[in-house]
Amino acid sequence: MNTRSLRFRITAWYAGLLAGALIVFGVSVYLGLERYLDWTLQRTLASECQTIGTELLSQLSAKDNLWLATEINEAYAPEVNGRFIRVVRQDVGIVYVSGQPKDGMFDPSRIPLPTDTEKDGPRKIRFEAGNRLLIDSITLTTANGNRFLVESGAPYNQVEVVLHGLLRIFAIYMPFVVSLAVAGGYWLMRRSLAPVDEITRRAEGITSSNLSERLPVIRTGDELERLSTALNRMIERLDEAFQHINRFSADASHELRTPLTILQLELEGIAQNQRRDAALGDQIGSALEETHRMSRIVESLLAISRLDAGEVKMDKTRLDLGDLAASTADEMRLLAEEKSIRIRTHMAISVHVEGDRTRLQQVIVNLIDNAIKYNQEGGVIDVSVSREGNAAVFEVSDNGPGIPVHALPHVFERFYRADKARSRANGGAGLGLSIVKAICAAHNAEVKVSSCEGRGSCFRVELPLLDMVTRDVDPAAVRQV
Ligand code: ADP
Repeated sequence: MNTRSLRFRITAWYAGLLAGALIVFGVSVYLGLERYLDWTLQRTLASECQTIGTELLSQLSAKDNLWLATEINEAYAPEVNGRFIRVVRQDVGIVYVSGQPKDGMFDPSRIPLPTDTEKDGPRKIRFEAGNRLLIDSITLTTANGNRFLVESGAPYNQVEVVLHGLLRIFAIYMPFVVSLAVAGGYWLMRRSLAPVDEITRRAEGITSSNLSERLPVIRTGDELERLSTALNRMIERLDEAFQHINRFSADASHELRTPLTILQLELEGIAQNQRRDAALGDQIGSALEETHRMSRIVESLLAISRLDAGEVKMDKTRLDLGDLAASTADEMRLLAEEKSIRIRTHMAISVHVEGDRTRLQQVIVNLIDNAIKYNQEGGVIDVSVSREGNAAVFEVSDNGPGIPVHALPHVFERFYRADKARSRANGGAGLGLSIVKAICAAHNAEVKVSSCEGRGSCFRVELPLLDMVTRDVDPAAVRQV
């Protein structure tokens, strides 16, 4: 679990605040109830003392102590109810004390008389076993002038039982409520952050080739709506900037094309007309060569810009990729033989795709051409077409020097050359793979490269397969050359 995630942090805060609120609530309820029960018990004891004093002791002068004991036992049954009652007459001593309660919670004979300050008020007595007794007492003088001290007590554990019960309820339910809140909070956070996941997923899929796509906007009027709207505006601005750059490259290439052609024709004309001065002839030849090179670069740039801007009309037809790759590889065999390079082909039959024949052929040519250009004398190139799931796969691998790891992510960039000297000597301007990538993008295809320095490179193009394998075609069938 990611403890730094927003989901975790908000849930933790939420659970912490809820637990804190529940604890504050529990403590308040506990203290409030304790005070209330204490007060109620005290009131009961005080009223008992009062009743005994006013109703029984006023008649005591005419009756004896036995009568008093019978009356108190009948009215309050202290032994049965676990209560303590004691009546003390000034100058005479104890005239009544209740017996040992049935539950044996306390021993009445061991309860000391109240000190002067404890008279007329409640006090708590603690026994060795931990039991506590709450005793209230009053002093009163009867009509005939006798002074009495009346005490009534009850074990405090009655209150403790209720409070412990409350604590138990809190101990059981509080973790349960907090866990429920944590689970609920986590689920709610997941639900409310789901649109962010969706925005992230869609944003990940937006690249320079599909800048016209937009992120989903959920009309909630909150931060999420503002975020997706702001991101969409940013993508729109990027889209405009990209289109501007593409248009600029396309316009510049287009504008350069005509003067270059004129320059080329002029130079060719001069070369044909002048035959006497060999040195001048060489210079003109070299200038012509450079003009050709510039023309090729301008043509390539124009092609890429138009492909990127979606201005090129693709003439898409159903075609057999194996056939196309086999015939193109055949045409390039002569070029390879100049460097004693062998081209081996492995084409699965009936691998149909929908594409522009000329453009796809350009992809095949560019990749095989690179495999020849950057291979050593006597090297081997493997060209294959196969079917993998829903994809038609075209691969060109060579056993040349390979591409350095740091250069791999850049080889499809415009004007990027891993080995500048070698590439220039081969007539390359670093645009061949950019064209491959642009054509692939126009065909919903993906082009990947893998390479191991010193062992060779492998370029792989995955195109959507037009139709799935039919019964009369064996997917493993390969046309070997
Ligand atoms: P270029 O016109 O220079 O060949 P590309 O766009 O076709 O430009 O290729 C870009 C760079 O990638 C090349 O300059 C070269 O360094 C490297 N490269 C391409 N294909 C291969 C290959 N088969 N083996 C080694 N390096 C390659």
